[in-house]
Amino acid sequence: MGGNWKMHNTIPQAISLASQLKEELKCIEDVEIVIFPPFTALFVVKEVIRGSNLKLGAQNMHWEDKGAFTGEVSPLMIKDIGCEYVILGHSERRRGEPKETHELVNRKVKSALRHGLIPIVCLGESSEERENGLTEKIVTEQLKGSLTGLQPEDVQKIIIAYEPVWAIGTGETATPVEANRVQALLREEIALIWGRETAQNIRIQYGGSITSENISQLIAQPNIDGGLVGGASLLADSFVKIVKACSGTKGQEIFR
Ligand code: PEP
Repeated sequence: MGGNWKMHNTIPQAISLASQLKEELKCIEDVEIVIFPPFTALFVVKEVIRGSNLKLGAQNMHWEDKGAFTGEVSPLMIKDIGCEYVILGHSERRRGEPKETHELVNRKVKSALRHGLIPIVCLGESSEERENGLTEKIVTEQLKGSLTGLQPEDVQKIIIAYEPVWAIGTGETATPVEANRVQALLREEIALIWGRETAQNIRIQYGGSITSENISQLIAQPNIDGGLVGGASLLADSFVKIVKACSGTKGQEIFR
């Protein structure tokens, strides 16, 4: 379960939220819990969660190690702070200004893997694309474009987050059956390109208006291995409930 704080939380707010999560989630052993504070709070949050079961991730990175890239943050820098994960290709970046292309996301994914970071690669269709029946086409194009040139052993290290754009921050969640259907389709596409073993091993999260009320039904789906949570990760109480609802739901062996 990932908590994407986006552009929220000053340093005192980040320390307070991370401290509450550390305390309230300390008994959870079977859920991989990653928080994604803004760059400015990564360092202090790392200190707060040191020695706990919470892991740290960055919300983006540049693909180069260093150089004349004003305002950018490199994979070496986020690793140095203690990040193990990085969100790449979030729709707020793919569809923002300037737009991140598949090619650019692919460069970042390769760079993250080279540096031993786990990329969480986000994919998802807009409401217009969905209404025009283009969901399958859009998500498979994003998948192939973002992961092009990777070997099966690298693809297995990646986490995919299926995040329909129309569900992000809108309160409108994909139904568990609908999310599972798209995620099964993505897994099938991965099997075709990188083999069945890779498809079985790769983790696919759902993201888009997850709450403590809807998480249990989503996580019960065979093709939903976890979640990427935005708004509901900003309050300790709701994120704690979401993580606890996932505890005990997936065995060592996942039957799909
Ligand atoms: C996100 O931005 O990754 C996200 C899923 O946001 P929210 O949970 O607020 O829809």
